[in-house]
Amino acid sequence: MPELSGRTANFTDSVIRRMTRISNQYGAVNLSQGFPDFEPPKEILQRLAEVTKEDFHQYSITWGAQNFREALAEKHEHFTGMKIDPNSEIVVTCGSTEAMMAAMMSVTNPGDKVIVFSPFYENYGADTVLCGAEPIYVPLIPPTFSFDADVLEEAFRQNPKALILCNPSNPCGKVFTYNELKIIADLAEKYDTFVITDEVYEHIVYAPHKHTYFSTLPGMKDRTISCGSLSKTYSITGWRLGYVIATPHIIETVKKVHDFLTVGAAAPLQEAAVTGLRFSDDYYADLQLKYTEKRDFFIDGLDRLKISHTTPEGAYYVLLDISEFGYDSDVEFCEKLAREVGVGAVPGSSFFKEPENRYIRMHFAKKNQTLNEALNRLDSFREKMLI
Ligand code: GLN
Repeated sequence: MPELSGRTANFTDSVIRRMTRISNQYGAVNLSQGFPDFEPPKEILQRLAEVTKEDFHQYSITWGAQNFREALAEKHEHFTGMKIDPNSEIVVTCGSTEAMMAAMMSVTNPGDKVIVFSPFYENYGADTVLCGAEPIYVPLIPPTFSFDADVLEEAFRQNPKALILCNPSNPCGKVFTYNELKIIADLAEKYDTFVITDEVYEHIVYAPHKHTYFSTLPGMKDRTISCGSLSKTYSITGWRLGYVIATPHIIETVKKVHDFLTVGAAAPLQEAAVTGLRFSDDYYADLQLKYTEKRDFFIDGLDRLKISHTTPEGAYYVLLDISEFGYDSDVEFCEKLAREVGVGAVPGSSFFKEPENRYIRMHFAKKNQTLNEALNRLDSFREKMLI
């Protein structure tokens, strides 16, 4: 038999999704793969029921249904203050996973370099490899996860084609400050680099932190490729609705890539999701409040158990420090945690380029009763996990 493609040899399957399978196998409370176990807004579900009886069962326009793109453009303008053209500046994709991949394929050639902050959401590594590009990792240094501007400039000196910015950040919960973003923007300008953003947690930010959309920084609209999603904002991760927003020149190319990758996102789901895109400000304020309560509830529980952890400024992940347990492998730790304690987590090493073995990631996008059950199980954490 001939060999399989070389480009697939350099990354593994997703550790996040693998931990979901392991959690299910042991009946663990799954706090690994980040998705909610509560219902999406009922207005969206009601609209979905109606849509099944309407004429939305065939392909929509490949780069997204007109209605969806118009509603998204209005929402985007509302939150960023920037007007975008729904016809020439948006591509609707199958989740932001496809959005990121389409963005990467649209700007990189094999051999190009791409700056990725570490820790990073695991897809970026695979996306880069699949494009034949080469990541340059720049550390976000714990506990504040800030970067060293000189180290970043050193990376820019290697002439990268793009920088990937996940803000608010998965897995470390960092919300980049305006000043940090300005440093990135100035370097992107100086070294003529694209910035591909993953802003899927734009509405999950904890006071006093505030999300700044990278494209709103002076001069950045033309070089920013903004990727977003409805998954987290409306609790519909399984609908796989994401998008790319960029200037018409870039979007022309993203449209082509997207067309041949997937043709389009599911037409009935796009139509139903328009209801969410048209929600008023109250919805986003409630979402923020709900997640703030969940974050506080979960980290208070971890504090009671004397487990040290990060305090996220945004997104819905916490990194727990497991260094005191003395395991050589955080993968082994997570498997044992699922099996013996009954809680699913993701090994931190899958997010770090550095040989980091100190963290595991849990998320708190769950009903209070699920979080309670997880915390009850974690009562036996210390006793069961000590070697
Ligand atoms: N973004 C979520 C996480 O980090 C889910 C990822 C996925 O499986 N698509 O867990």
